[in-house]
Amino acid sequence: MSSTRIDADTIRRLPKAVLHDHLDGGLRPATVVELAESVGHALPTTDPDELAAWYVEAANSGDLVRYIATFEHTLAVMQTREGLLRTAEEYVLDLAADGVVHGEVRYAPELNTRGGLTMAEVVETVQEGLAAGMAKAAAAGTPVRVGTLLCGMRMFDRVREAADLAVAFRDAGVVGFDIAGAEDGFPAADHLAAFEHLRRENVPFTIHAGEAHGLPSIHQAVQVCGAQRIGHGVRLTEDIPDLAGGKLGRLASWVRDRRIALEMCPTSNLQTGAATSIAEHPITPLKDLGFRVTVNTDNRLVSGTTMTREMTLLVEQAGWTAEDLRTVTLNAVKSAFLPYDERVALIEEVVLPGYDAVLSGHDAVLSGHDAVLSGHDAAL
Ligand SMILES: [Zn+2]
Repeated sequence: MSSTRIDADTIRRLPKAVLHDHLDGGLRPATVVELAESVGHALPTTDPDELAAWYVEAANSGDLVRYIATFEHTLAVMQTREGLLRTAEEYVLDLAADGVVHGEVRYAPELNTRGGLTMAEVVETVQEGLAAGMAKAAAAGTPVRVGTLLCGMRMFDRVREAADLAVAFRDAGVVGFDIAGAEDGFPAADHLAAFEHLRRENVPFTIHAGEAHGLPSIHQAVQVCGAQRIGHGVRLTEDIPDLAGGKLGRLASWVRDRRIALEMCPTSNLQTGAATSIAEHPITPLKDLGFRVTVNTDNRLVSGTTMTREMTLLVEQAGWTAEDLRTVTLNAVKSAFLPYDERVALIEEVVLPGYDAVLSGHDAVLSGHDAVLSGHDAAL
């Protein structure tokens, strides 16, 4: 294994994939200020830098419910066609600037209907904005593909409606489904009919689980609802009493054996109290145990972060190497809600050559390359 340490600028240039990022948690502060003014919404401050700081401070409360409450001010400016088009387009451009080559953006269309748009109109508008962003990013020489995951809010009653939209828009940019919102007290299985519908329709989905609630929530998401990925899953470690020894409980074994991706979001997990520090975050031992862990941003504005920053924190505070970053990037592409042939092409034509190009001076990093290529078909 390589022990190559790399810096933030190098990490920014590496090809990255993000599977767990909320559209309404990733707006540019200046955009929130401008759009809020145009729709007459009062913000805590109209200075973009102060607003960025306000978000991070509010999110640092260590409480998932308060963390979610910060979305009031982003959602307020995402109720019009203009607001949705702009935020979706900028979303793509910000990912491209972060070196992301494949992104999956999620949002709950039911939260964007206060201005009179229907949920279907919301989805159409966001897709239009994303397409504009992808065209601009490609023209600028930083192509990025962004697929959409539609979310249902687990504490409300429109989950099935959102699932129907995921089916309806499956050939128009929507690649999967999720449920979001307060996990504690709102079990995923309350929406079992929606998940069964998605399975019958062959639409893949992930479920937020194992963040605010423990193993029963993860078990229910995987074994009752049939999630192909888990949003966060930090508390899966409760089924691995001796992380260093590596003896797994039955649920943890199932998740590792079936290659179920854990969409982990280090900074966000600290902010909601699901983890105590980057150095102690379960993502590192789970990676070392061979779980299909992925690194994600969750909410870039609310957490004040980017993919580059999350990966740099792991390098600086948890001892990650360039090879570790490549591993989790391959993990993300392998578990992306993309067709198999497109995942293989992304790995062979974008991710591995991108690592080669950026790290051409790092011999040790490249020595593991053949094993990755030869082994990835089986692992996909
Ligand atoms: Zn999330």
